[in-house]
Amino acid sequence: MSKEKKVKEKEKAVAKESAKPKATKKLSKPATVLTEESVGFLRNYINTPSAVGFESGGQKLWLDYIKPFVDTHFVDPYGTAVGVINPDAPFKVVIEAHCDEISWFVNYINNEGLIYVKRNGGVDHQIAPAKRVLIHGKKGAVKAVFGWPAIHTRMSNPDNKEPVAKVDNLFLDCGARNKKEVEELGIHIGSVITYEEGFDELANGYYIGRAMDNRIGGFMIAEVARLLKNNKKQLPFGLYIVNAVQEEIGLRGAEMIARRIKPNIAIITDVTHDTQTPMINKIIEGDVACGKGPSPCYGPAVHNKLLKIVEDVAEKNNIPLQMRTVSRSTGTDTDSFAYANDGCPSVLISIPLRYMHTTVEMLHKDDIDSTVQLMYETLLTLSPETNLSYM
Ligand SMILES: [Zn+2]
Repeated sequence: MSKEKKVKEKEKAVAKESAKPKATKKLSKPATVLTEESVGFLRNYINTPSAVGFESGGQKLWLDYIKPFVDTHFVDPYGTAVGVINPDAPFKVVIEAHCDEISWFVNYINNEGLIYVKRNGGVDHQIAPAKRVLIHGKKGAVKAVFGWPAIHTRMSNPDNKEPVAKVDNLFLDCGARNKKEVEELGIHIGSVITYEEGFDELANGYYIGRAMDNRIGGFMIAEVARLLKNNKKQLPFGLYIVNAVQEEIGLRGAEMIARRIKPNIAIITDVTHDTQTPMINKIIEGDVACGKGPSPCYGPAVHNKLLKIVEDVAEKNNIPLQMRTVSRSTGTDTDSFAYANDGCPSVLISIPLRYMHTTVEMLHKDDIDSTVQLMYETLLTLSPETNLSYM
């Protein structure tokens, strides 16, 4: 049996499995929906810089991957990419993720050729010292490092204290010896800066990489489209697979595209915190673990009835869930979709992740599988007749 065939068989098995009555199923790990090819795409996607506001590199790659699985696609003025199945259907369902990567801006170049930065999204200043970066200038990417005083020399300051990394004392060294040499490399005020560290695998099914938040979401919604296509599923509605820009600076891409599409239902996926590692308070952050399943949440922006459908689908398909709560907003694109237009029933299905907004964001393969399956099975449950009325 060829590898490809094996994969197809697996996908068929997954589809079959979900059609079986509950009693015949045992609680076992779901068959993986990932293929060698799809993981290859994920690796490539994670390794492609996609800075907030400058996402087109990653978006092109994502669109190329998803094109075979959709009927049509479009890109909005700020670069949000959308694959569409059944574009003529009046009832519209969105599955959504965000594609932007937290990064830095070149803000000031001094006469010694050192470069000072400004945040572009909630990038973590504490992890910056000694990191390798790419500065995306007019002549292409330029390698640089976040310089940091040596352990031997950094106490020789007037306070005799260890310096703490802050945005205003972080600086980049690209090898230039003065401002002119920086500029000659094509670097300018406003060049975006991304970290170099990329995708890797750890033991026991863990993946790591920068901006898994939320390119893992873009990957998962693409996998849902792939499963629908491969399993020849016909949906009774238009499905809009949305990879939105500019989430990290205030859910802006979703805000724009929600108004353009005007969906009837939106299923959002993003990352949430695994709370099992040190220095995280479960009393505040809840109890969520990588490898133990998707993590939907309760919150005012989350539509109760839609959430109940997701929970029922999970139960029926033996997908374990790790429920959470959010107060006020979800802090994800869910808010943009829920409150857009006349109110769009929206639900958030998050995937647990460790070390958010660092370059070693870590998540578990099993959660990717079960989140893809949960979205896939939920879509197969929905129709224009689905009753989402609160009263
Ligand atoms: Zn984020």
